Amino acid sequence: MQYIFDQQPNTPLVQLETPEIRQAGIRLFIKRDDQIHPLVSGNKWRKLKYNLQEARKQNKKCILSFGGAFSNHIYSLAAAGKIWNFETIGIIRGEETTPLNATLAFAKDCGMQLHYINRESYRNKNDPEFLENLKSQFGDCYFVPEGGTNSFSLPGVAELVSEIDIPFDYICTPVGTGGTMAGLISGMQYNATVLGFASLKGENYLETEIQQLLKNLPDKINTAWQLIHQYHFGGYAKINRDLALFICNFEQKYQIPLDPVYTSKMLYGILDMCCNGYFEKGKTIIALHTGGLQGLAGMKNKINKLIST
Ligand SMILES: *Cc1c(COP(=O)(O)O)cnc(C)c1O
Repeated sequence: MQYIFDQQPNTPLVQLETPEIRQAGIRLFIKRDDQIHPLVSGNKWRKLKYNLQEARKQNKKCILSFGGAFSNHIYSLAAAGKIWNFETIGIIRGEETTPLNATLAFAKDCGMQLHYINRESYRNKNDPEFLENLKSQFGDCYFVPEGGTNSFSLPGVAELVSEIDIPFDYICTPVGTGGTMAGLISGMQYNATVLGFASLKGENYLETEIQQLLKNLPDKINTAWQLIHQYHFGGYAKINRDLALFICNFEQKYQIPLDPVYTSKMLYGILDMCCNGYFEKGKTIIALHTGGLQGLAGMKNKINKLIST
């Protein structure tokens, strides 16, 4: 069997020093999973690893998944499929618009077959009947849910915890579907708290979603975890001038690019919480840079416009 994602990536852990961090008397390290692979980015690499191995084990030639038109997951899956010899099918939410945006153009270049479905049908993406229909339409593919989140995505994320070779008190991650957060919770070997920064607005079902993912694990998990809902900036992919400025300043000062959908909201939140006294003095915090920078180019215009107003 061809082994997929063979090496432990050991992405760098870099210390960040800002006035907020100094004032709070804490230490903050960024786990640079954005550097994990040039095309299969960040947490999507972690989440796809065991899914692709499972697909190979089941002798599937083709992987089918779901996403929006700017999806990091679709982008990463298309690249991974090309590298590890799977056909890929992307079920894309909404109408086709031409020319294709950079994300979908890349996916298509990788050989991914793109199929568009309207927003209403897309909501059924987890219904057994809907999936049966797709199966009869596209054949016996290996199905990966939206965002790459299922029980096979957890162990790949859990592995990154063991790459962190310093003791820490908190590990922070942005949250979309909750798969990455559940993976971190499941991988924690000692007493540290997992903080998840929700990028979607008012998604109260996220707690349930994460509990559900953890319930399917063989071992009972005792890790402390908390979702933080104050830093979604109006909702998924929403951004204001404050956040646009934060992204630009952050890259200029610290040479670390942040994406407008996920990692920027988390880091904005962490630094704000430093100012609000959330963290006790002396604590060590890890922030997971989940990558997703492929979408940044497409957002640059919007960011610049917000800044110049
Ligand atoms: C997909 C994605 C997330 C969200 O991960 P979930 O496991 O769905 O919560 C966070 N950050 C980036 C950069 C992503 O691409």
